[in-house]
Amino acid sequence: METELKLTADTGDDVPNKKAKVEENQNVETFNEMKTDEDGTIEASKLSKRQIKKLRKLAEWEIKKKEKRLKEREKYRQKKLEALEKGEPRTGPSRKELKRNKAAESKNFLKVAVDLDYDDLMIDKDIGKCVKQLLRIYTINRRSLAPAKLYFTGIKKDGKIHKSLAKNDGYENWDVQWAFNKTYHEILSKNDILYLTSDSDNVLETLEKNTVYVIGGIVDHNHQKGLCMDRAQKLGLRTARLPLSEHIDMKTRTVLSTVHVFEILLKVSEGISWTKTLLEVLPMRKGAKPKEYTSSFNGDKDSDIEEFDKNDTIIQTEEN
Ligand code: SAH
Repeated sequence: METELKLTADTGDDVPNKKAKVEENQNVETFNEMKTDEDGTIEASKLSKRQIKKLRKLAEWEIKKKEKRLKEREKYRQKKLEALEKGEPRTGPSRKELKRNKAAESKNFLKVAVDLDYDDLMIDKDIGKCVKQLLRIYTINRRSLAPAKLYFTGIKKDGKIHKSLAKNDGYENWDVQWAFNKTYHEILSKNDILYLTSDSDNVLETLEKNTVYVIGGIVDHNHQKGLCMDRAQKLGLRTARLPLSEHIDMKTRTVLSTVHVFEILLKVSEGISWTKTLLEVLPMRKGAKPKEYTSSFNGDKDSDIEEFDKNDTIIQTEEN
């Protein structure tokens, strides 16, 4: 749903007809301060200069964002056409192939639940980042040769995560087991659950068939240290950390983002070694090197991951 913003004051903005569209939920802080009429419109005369300026910026940004998306889509389409003309082979699976790539028919035994019961502990900006990671997890899984079974659990109905998710048309139809207002431990047997947390003393060595690996769906820049571990312990669940220090040397902390943890699990479940997986998944700025580092190692990285890091800051850093 969109709310129309009427700017009646001469603000000198360059938005056509001095009207702009503002998406609901966008810039909540600004929006909540505004008084809207019954029909949902905002009269500029009721706003302070600062509010008008903020809204105008927001509206301009919205327009720019849409234009950027269109340009990107067009560029992508063009690239695909050119590749087709040149007779280059496809780089990824076709839409048809993707449709058939369902977890239920997958040869992969891996089961992963993302615990999204942290709605109230994240600021709006991090909610957006968290949902972006869910999207990324879903895409990686769908595009993999053998997708894992995914559970997205503990989503509060009409809560912040839910609202952010709902911006993605058709998300309800994703090949995911959704659990709204229910946590993973309410839908799964406790004995089958293993909560992954960097604070655990147990080290994950092999992936088991009957275990559901739970990853905390939280972006908190590690401000809430030990949070997931605490919750898992209170529930009496098994916990483990990824075997990072056992396989690689890293120059930064070993708390990874939800999406990186998922990618690592998926690769390892496909039979790729921990060392190779970790070096492929972890971004360059984590400075990961194989345990027995030799100068011949050139630190090649997956360009897609690197790009995603740059644009979406998915790593749990304390600064962002
Ligand atoms: N402050 C949070 C950090 C969240 S990081 C906490 O208390 O854990 C997001 C999720 O990724 C974590 O909840 C955990 O499930 C997983 N994770 C991150 N680094 C990990 C590691 N080294 N080993 C196992 N799980 C990890």
